[in-house]
Amino acid sequence: MSGSSRNGSRFCFENGRIARLKISPNHANSEGARLPKMPRMGNVKYMSRFNLLDVPPNVARDELTAFFQRIDEPTYRADQVVRRLWQNPAASFDAMTELPKALRSTLDEHFELPRLEIAARQRSVDGTEKFLFRLHDNEAIETVAIPEGDRVTLCISSQAGCALQCAFCATGAMGFSRNLTVFEIAGQVREMRLLEPPIAVTNIVFMGMGEPMMNWKAVDPTLTILNDPSGLGIGARHITISTVGVLPGIVALGQRPEQFRLAISIHAPNDALRRELMPINTKYPLADVIEAAKVFDRRVTFEYVMLGGVNDAEEHVLQLAKLAVECRAFVNLIPLHPGGARGFSPTPADRIRTFARELRNEGVEVAIRKSRGMDISAACGQLRVERIGRRAPRRPDNDGDIQVA
Ligand code: SAH
Repeated sequence: MSGSSRNGSRFCFENGRIARLKISPNHANSEGARLPKMPRMGNVKYMSRFNLLDVPPNVARDELTAFFQRIDEPTYRADQVVRRLWQNPAASFDAMTELPKALRSTLDEHFELPRLEIAARQRSVDGTEKFLFRLHDNEAIETVAIPEGDRVTLCISSQAGCALQCAFCATGAMGFSRNLTVFEIAGQVREMRLLEPPIAVTNIVFMGMGEPMMNWKAVDPTLTILNDPSGLGIGARHITISTVGVLPGIVALGQRPEQFRLAISIHAPNDALRRELMPINTKYPLADVIEAAKVFDRRVTFEYVMLGGVNDAEEHVLQLAKLAVECRAFVNLIPLHPGGARGFSPTPADRIRTFARELRNEGVEVAIRKSRGMDISAACGQLRVERIGRRAPRRPDNDGDIQVA
C-alpha cells in the first residue's frame, strides 16, 4: 500500500511495514538504540528501565514515589512527573525544566519516556489528517485526526495488521503482525499533544488498524489512561471501541464502570452473508453477538458498511431492522471507502438514503456516515475517517459528521 500527500511527499507501506524510512534523531534516542547498553550476560540481571507510559498514571505515580523515596527526593516530585506524562506531556525528561537538571538525568537512567516516530503526515482538503507512525521494530500503524466544529476525533490503531480478514478491508488483506503495547496505543494520542501546534483531541474511536478486543490486555489499561483525569482526561462517553463482536471483549468492556461506548461491526444481517464477509462469524455467530449487545448495559451502535449489490437489498433492510430493534441499537450506515476493498463497489448514495429511510420506518435510529479525507487515501488499511454516531442523533451537540438522511 502506498500513499502520497498533496504536497508530493511519499511513503511506502508494505505488509504493514514501512519501507525506505529515515531514522530521525528523535528515534535514535528511543529504546531500540539503548538496548545494546544493557548488560545481559551470565547471571547479571537484565536492567531494563521502567516505561512510565506503559501503565496507568496511578501505577506510574507509585513507581515514581517509591523511587524518589529511595533516592531521598521529596515525593511531591512524583506528581510533577506524572503531570508531564499525559496531561502536559514532555518530549523527554530533559524537557521537564521544572525539575533540577541532575534529577532529570537520574530519571532518564531509570525510566523510559518513549516517543512514537511520525513517518508520514498527510492533510486532506477537508482538514482530516493522517499520521503514519513507525514503531521500534519497523512496524507501521495509522492514526487519523478528524476535526469537526469544536471537536477533534482521533481514530487509533490497536494492532499492527489484523488477523480477521474481513473481505472488504485492506488491513485484513495485510495479515496480522502483532499486538500494540499500551504505550503504542495511548502514545498515538500523546503525540498529538506534542505537535506544534498541538492537536487537542476530544474524542477517540478504536477504528484504526486491528481488532481492539483481540488485544484487550493492552486496550484495558489504555482506556484507563485515556479517561483518567491524571491521564489524558477524555470523557468515557467520548471513547468508542469498535469490534467485530469478540464476545469476551464485549463482556469485559461491559464490566468496566465507565461509560465507554461500544460499536459492533455487523455489516451483514444474516449468518450466511456475514460468514462470507467476515470469517470471524464462524466463531462468534450473529445470534451470540446480538445477545451480547442486548445484555450490554449501554446502548450499542451497529456499523454497517454499504456494499453495492451485496448487503443493500430490501430483504437486508428488514433483517437488519429486526436485529437493531431487538437490542435497541443505533445504526450507522457507512459508505464503502473504495481503498483496499477489492471486488466491492459502494452502494450509490440515493440507495443508501432509501435504505436509511426504510430502516427508520421500521423504528430504527439511523445515521449515514460522511466520508472524510478521500484525497489522502485515509481509508488506507481499514481506517475510515468518520466518527461514530452518538446515542441521540438529533441533539445539536451530536457528532457533527453524521448526516441524518
Ligand atoms: N476491528 C474493529 C475495528 C477496526 S475497523 C472492527 O472491525 O470493528 C473499524 C471499522 O471500519 C469497521 O466497522 C470496519 O468494518 C470498517 N471498514 C473496514 N474497511 C472499510 C472500508 N473499506 N470502507 C468503510 N469501512 C471499512
